[in-house]
Amino acid sequence: MKYISTRGNIAPINFKEAVMMGLATDGGLLLPESIPQVSPETLKEWRTLSYPELAFAVISLYADDIPAADLRGLIDRSYATFSHPEITPLVAVNGVQILELFHGPTLAFKDVALQLLGNLFEYLLKERGEKMNIIGATSGDTGSAAIAGVRGKENINIFILHPHLKTSPIQALQMTTVLDANVHNIAVKGTFDDCQQIVKELFNDLTFKKEYALGAVNSINWARVLAQVVYYFYAWCRLPEGAEVTFAVPTGNFGDIFAGYLAKRMGLPVRKLLLATNENNILSRFVEAGDYSLGQVVQTVSPSMDIQLASNFERYLFYLYGEDPAHVRAAFATLAETGRIPFTQEEMEQVRTEFLSCSVGEEQTLATIASFHKETGYILDPHTAVGVCGALEKVKDGSIPVCLATAHPAKFGDAVQQAISTPTPLPPQLAALEGLPSRCEVMDADRSAVKRFVEEKAGQRH
Ligand SMILES: *Cc1c(COP(=O)(O)O)cnc(C)c1O
Repeated sequence: MKYISTRGNIAPINFKEAVMMGLATDGGLLLPESIPQVSPETLKEWRTLSYPELAFAVISLYADDIPAADLRGLIDRSYATFSHPEITPLVAVNGVQILELFHGPTLAFKDVALQLLGNLFEYLLKERGEKMNIIGATSGDTGSAAIAGVRGKENINIFILHPHLKTSPIQALQMTTVLDANVHNIAVKGTFDDCQQIVKELFNDLTFKKEYALGAVNSINWARVLAQVVYYFYAWCRLPEGAEVTFAVPTGNFGDIFAGYLAKRMGLPVRKLLLATNENNILSRFVEAGDYSLGQVVQTVSPSMDIQLASNFERYLFYLYGEDPAHVRAAFATLAETGRIPFTQEEMEQVRTEFLSCSVGEEQTLATIASFHKETGYILDPHTAVGVCGALEKVKDGSIPVCLATAHPAKFGDAVQQAISTPTPLPPQLAALEGLPSRCEVMDADRSAVKRFVEEKAGQRH
């Protein structure tokens, strides 16, 4: 399988190169040259597979340059860290199917992708005799999942910047109690934006970037999308034969729902994908009214979805535009100039054959957590509640709604308590964090200081 860029200006590369490249060097995103098709007979055979077996079946279609035994080993190790034997169990709660994606080490769905990406990086760096220093900024979720993905791995250091005392205490502990020598937490005396700005400037320092082999783990890496395709197939395999489903996906950067779109294009019987957003609703405005225009980011109770410009949306546009990279380039030029992308009637008709959408406000999110808990006893996290609210309101075509549960409710305990007035019991992994030794460097929001710190720590392990 070869990979090309949505912007059309790179020569085709193989899977291993695509993983190492991350963002395409022409500024676009990487996609497979063609989408593998899965026949109904093969789908039927997949119904009996375990999660790791299914992951191998799906991923090997796209990663044919890694020997089968090696790939199998990477996948097995990645999902051995999950606390549930089914990895992503499908739970029926009063007629609503909940796909629990939060049984990984940090209790959020990002583990599904980042556990695999960490192992892939280690494998590929060893093969190439190279090292990598991952640098990233986090407001909470991604940082801990990235750290859990690469802790203790050879030839990789990770530096994660978070705003000092501005993440939830649990999220900070999930990062700072990881004591592996290759993990470095930096608490910046400033905001999340300060952290992001510093990271951006370090990546723009091309000499530094090259000398220290800076790497990123953001959601545009192709391997992250690919790992997420698997659980759409897994959910379908757990339902009665002949089921047609609508997946409700709490959406921020469009990575998760794009994986569902790919599963559909591969041949999974998906009726529609329900794109659920919070008040940051540029994507639902797009689906419902063809209005793709930038707004201000607002803070909500589902912070991992507080995003305006979804980076993975470009991957979908490539297909919407009939795989025409010139059209993608023109659309992003228009966006940069005018703050919006216009769409034709025909394009919008296409979009609506594939997606439903909803935008769920804070009050509605909390009300959904409360009513769902009252009726079923099941506690939703605020991100998942956005999707469940959408599914209850919008899925009326007889298909089975499957709601992706993207985080464990205890990770967002304050919002949940606001909704149901009782604290969510802490799962053992989180309860154990309290009182553990931790390590974290507190620093001013100063790029040079962060740079010196990276040079010093990376130097020690060269
Ligand atoms: C990252 C995240 C999302 C959004 O996923 P995208 O792939 O960015 O659309 C939703 N919920 C939680 C809990 C997350 O951490």
